[in-house]
Amino acid sequence: MSTISNEAGPRPIGFTAPSGIDRAAHHRLDEAWLAAAWSHPTTRVFVVSGGQVLVDDTPDGRTELVMTPSFEAPLTETHRYFLGTDDDGVSYFALQKDSLPGRMDQSARPAGLREAGLLLDARDAALMVHAVALENWQRLHRFCSRCGERTVIAAAGHVRRCQACGAEHYPRTDPAVIMLVTDEQDRALLGRQVHWPEGRFSTLAGFVEPGESIEQAVVREAYEEAGVTVGEVRYVASQPWPFPSSLMLGFTARATSSDIDVDGDEIEEARWFSRDELAAAFASGEVLPPYGISIATHLIETWYGRPLPRP
Ligand SMILES: [Zn+2]
Repeated sequence: MSTISNEAGPRPIGFTAPSGIDRAAHHRLDEAWLAAAWSHPTTRVFVVSGGQVLVDDTPDGRTELVMTPSFEAPLTETHRYFLGTDDDGVSYFALQKDSLPGRMDQSARPAGLREAGLLLDARDAALMVHAVALENWQRLHRFCSRCGERTVIAAAGHVRRCQACGAEHYPRTDPAVIMLVTDEQDRALLGRQVHWPEGRFSTLAGFVEPGESIEQAVVREAYEEAGVTVGEVRYVASQPWPFPSSLMLGFTARATSSDIDVDGDEIEEARWFSRDELAAAFASGEVLPPYGISIATHLIETWYGRPLPRP
């Protein structure tokens, strides 16, 4: 397993650290085991709804997922996902519901991944991203892609089964590449997507196409989006990115040309930045950094040599 070190800055990069959770997939079809785990007093449960969970601040200044014992969990009309166990034998479940439960704690609040990914520790971030990815997939795969009939949830949330034709459907993960391209002067190529807020720049990225290796996708996307040809491509790390179902595969790539010709379709503008130019652009407010939880931040910081300012 590859993990992202965080040498460039003090804040966590969401969803990449070892989580301490064993997904224990061999239990997913064992209804007796799942029932016993569900009713065990140490089991912890949280609700996921529309990509959000409840988080709360602790007295010592951390932020954590709001989890309850199963006997306190709301049960009606709920899909139950088994997410795994930890080293102490505690089992974790997520309940997918139409809305988040009301809370008496004043500080508990709903949060999506973009916020929570910067706040939660590795265990809670991993539990949340697993639950949100399953919820996204469940929501979009209610019907069988083979025969069109309705599917039902199985394997503790990790399979949808068609009762008409028997097909089993598994959660989808769509690979996408994201790459920091540098040139022979060690400048970084950053681009602006058409729909981003003004001033926001980040690394180039795009989906892997059918029949394509991830290295080929890096080369193709750099050329399609910015008109830049790249040679050497080096894998760095990956990051689950369930918006709604991507896996971001992070690379560095070395440009063999520096002329820029943006596609104007996905990318509105792309520029080469030296470290000094980027620092000046941040300082003047001309350039805004990418969202903090994105692996783009890690890729840029590793090149930049220090933390990026907060978006
Ligand atoms: Zn079917």
